[in-house]
Amino acid sequence: MTGTNRLNRPPLDKDALRRKYAEERDKRLRPDGNAQYLRLTGRFAPYLHDPYTPRTERPPRTDHVTVAFVGGGFAGLVTGARLKEAGVEDVRVVEKGGDFGGTWYWNRYPGAQCDTASYVYMPLLEETGHMPTEKYAHAPEILEHCRRIGRHYGLYDDALFHTEVTALEWDAARSRWIVRTDRGDSFTASFVGMGIGPLHVPKLPGIPGIEDFAGHAFHTSRWDYAYTGGDPSGAPMDRLSGRRVAVIGTGATAVQCVPHLARACKELYVFQRTPSSVDVRDNRPTDPEWFASIATPGWQQRWLENFTANQTGELPDEDLVMDGWTDIARRLRARIAAIPQEELTPERMMEAYEECDFEKMEEIRARVDALVEDAETARGLKAWYRQLCKRPCFHDEYLQAFNLPNTHLVDTGGRGVERITSTGVVAAGAEYEVDCVIYASGFEVGTGFTRRSGYDMTGRDGVRLSERWAQGMRTLHGVHVHGFPNAFLVQPTQGANLISNIPHNLTEAARTIAVTVRHALDHGYAEVEATREAEEAWVELLRSGPGRLIGGPDCTPGYYNNEGQEPGPWDWLNTGYPYGATAYFAHMDRWRRSGTFEGLDFREGPCRVAD
Ligand code: NDP
Repeated sequence: MTGTNRLNRPPLDKDALRRKYAEERDKRLRPDGNAQYLRLTGRFAPYLHDPYTPRTERPPRTDHVTVAFVGGGFAGLVTGARLKEAGVEDVRVVEKGGDFGGTWYWNRYPGAQCDTASYVYMPLLEETGHMPTEKYAHAPEILEHCRRIGRHYGLYDDALFHTEVTALEWDAARSRWIVRTDRGDSFTASFVGMGIGPLHVPKLPGIPGIEDFAGHAFHTSRWDYAYTGGDPSGAPMDRLSGRRVAVIGTGATAVQCVPHLARACKELYVFQRTPSSVDVRDNRPTDPEWFASIATPGWQQRWLENFTANQTGELPDEDLVMDGWTDIARRLRARIAAIPQEELTPERMMEAYEECDFEKMEEIRARVDALVEDAETARGLKAWYRQLCKRPCFHDEYLQAFNLPNTHLVDTGGRGVERITSTGVVAAGAEYEVDCVIYASGFEVGTGFTRRSGYDMTGRDGVRLSERWAQGMRTLHGVHVHGFPNAFLVQPTQGANLISNIPHNLTEAARTIAVTVRHALDHGYAEVEATREAEEAWVELLRSGPGRLIGGPDCTPGYYNNEGQEPGPWDWLNTGYPYGATAYFAHMDRWRRSGTFEGLDFREGPCRVAD
């Protein structure tokens, strides 16, 4: 069964679908928004323990480096790589995990896999000469690729692992940053980069009684293989055969690990608040001959640009990746081509888009009926919202897992788990006794940058980033912040804001940082900072766009639409370049090539700049 069964379908009742979407959304709305979730502190702090790498002792660092980078995930790796390519040898990555990898260091749950085609998702493939073994690579290969980048660019030499930055302070007298960490380090850096990742602080649902559970429990991003047996490469979890397990959450993580748990547990209860849309995965090994034919010079950049253009609805002539992310664009292209030129208004285009979305989601719902044997379970697994309201999922075994006699969907009808007791989970009016609760409850997204980074950097004149951003994030290009010289952000917001392929945002930011640092070093500038005017102009430009939310207020709640809450001033500025991701990348390419560094002020030495 594929997701393209378009035969014998009755015509769409668009009004009925709109009504159903609104009803389902209303069931899930709750007033507490992001406040419904818990941090892993206090009783839950041990959940953050690194189960993968033993911590080794080392003396504190008190030296000086040219660039310090906070975070050893893709952001730190690609920025480190671009800096090294630009001849900046002295780059120190500081990483809280025990190795490079970021999200792929922590997320080793069974079945973990990238949902975006490896050829565009895995960065620096061309530079490192790696051919992904599958169209959608599994987590161990991606983690190994992170290590490959680290080795290839010599980033291991000076990396500090199992180290969390606790403070970044601008030393104006010496034009450098003082970096302090939880390992007692206090070193200085001429420049700092920050790539803390959008999804790295695990969260738990604030369910009453969650602290009372006496059995075993863990979050999916700290998978406890000592308890479950098995390993990240898919070895069977042989210690679960006599155990009753609850999974709380049915997002992208649960969709990938549930089939593995279903095969291993005595009983598996999957507690669902909102069903994910689960489209066809259709993974396959990479054919080396085919890969050799596409991997010509510049290939990965071409693929990146093509995927982004397709995924963001620019409707280019060609679709290289051809998958579920680009499917709506393919349909839309065909539909729009059929509209006579004189009738091609923005309203007709939006109508065509909605129709394509309805059709797509009808197919995804039909797929549930085709694959899930029990009618009641199938009913519960159907997603009633537009595809990009929630993170789309893709899997060829998730839905079928519910056909196994030991695997039970506990659909809470949008209300979520009611309570946790010392022995189990209470939901939809019944208690389910379990030995283990696995929280597939995701990561903090809608919270502030300084909360998620774990430090509040102090810039020029002692101003903290949280103060500077009290009324919302303000940057130039999503990279520079006025008042914080020689500091760079590597993340999507206020830039391309591209969510379907986060690494594309990161590789572009890395290029910008590398040329900026190179320019400063070549010309002996001790400081570089975004001017207030340039930053203001950029923020004004962002404000002229349609606003921040990826999913609109009509969407069922989730992190794509701020949990359904009205965006506050902070949220409003979590937006992207108004003309779209491709236009942003083109703008930045021109900016870098121009060599004028418009909007940046390069200075020779310590000085105060009037605000
Ligand atoms: P998500 O935030 O997507 O999912 C959390 C789940 O927990 C949701 O189903 C949520 O329900 C549920 N939940 C929260 N509170 C309760 C409650 N009180 N009772 C019952 N259920 C509850 O987290 P994931 O870890 O699944 O994914 C996070 C993101 O990480 C993804 O969106 C994706 O961007 C990325 N990811 C990427 C992957 C890839 O590329 N391969 C794989 C996995 C993740 P509700 O929907 O109602 O809020």
